[in-house]
Formats: sequence, C-alpha cells, structure tokens
Amino acid sequence: MASVFSRIIAREIPAEIYYEDDLVIAFKDINPSAPVHILICPKREIPTVNDATPEDEAALGRMWTVAAKLAAQFGIAESGYRLITNVNADGGQEVFHIHMHLVGGRPLGPMLKRVKDT
Ligand code: 5GP
Repeated sequence: MASVFSRIIAREIPAEIYYEDDLVIAFKDINPSAPVHILICPKREIPTVNDATPEDEAALGRMWTVAAKLAAQFGIAESGYRLITNVNADGGQEVFHIHMHLVGGRPLGPMLKRVKDT
C-alpha cells in the first residue's frame, strides 16, 4: 500500500505543501514539535535510508538544498534549526517513506542524552 506521504504527493490526502519539484516535496508535519516543523521527502517511495540507492542521490541531495531554502523562507536560517531522519525501530521511524524533519523556531536543546547521563 502507498505510504501516507505518497498519498499526499498524489493529492489523495490534504497537506499544507510548501515546496514541490520533480524530485522532492515538502509539507507541514501534521503534529508539529516546534513552530516550524516541515517534512521533506523524495517523491520516490524509498522506505528507509537502508533502501537508498545511487540512483536516489539526486533526490536525497535535493532534500538538503530544499531544507536550506525553506529555513530561509521561514526565517530560521540564522537562529538555527535541526534536520532529523529517523530509521527503523530504534530510530523511532513511523512512516516508511524516507523523510527529513526540518524543525526550528525555538531553542531545541541538546540532540540526545549522552550515554553517560542515561
Ligand atoms: P517519523 O517518526 O517516521 O520520523 O515521522 C513521521 C512524521 O510524519 C511524524 O512527525 C508525523 O506527525 C507525520 N505525519 C504522519 N502522518 C501524517 C500525515 O498524514 N500528514 C502529515 N502532514 N504528517 C504526517
């Protein structure tokens, strides 16, 4: 079955789309973690980073330049932001269609607890 993000790309379900081109799409996360929370994903339904191939490099590279463009557009390029890609169970991945979270608009704190503090 098509991923929820493929269904957004096909306009089968609604989303607030901020950017789209031949390789990638970017839209607002339905359950945001910060004032800016955008998902950027390749149009090809690649389930996880483990499934990426050399043919996907153009789309995967495009995700980074689109992230920079959107960060500038949303006014958080200078204040800063975080780009996150979760992979499989330990990574906390819920949607199996590669995506980058662009999160910002507030101080995000440390990335993860240090091993020594757990
Ligand atoms: P993951 O945990 O896989 O890295 O992140 C999946 C993200 O997709 C979550 O932040 C979740 O809020 C978002 N999400 C799940 N379903 C939908 C949806 O139907 N529309 C949008 N815009 N975001 C979704």
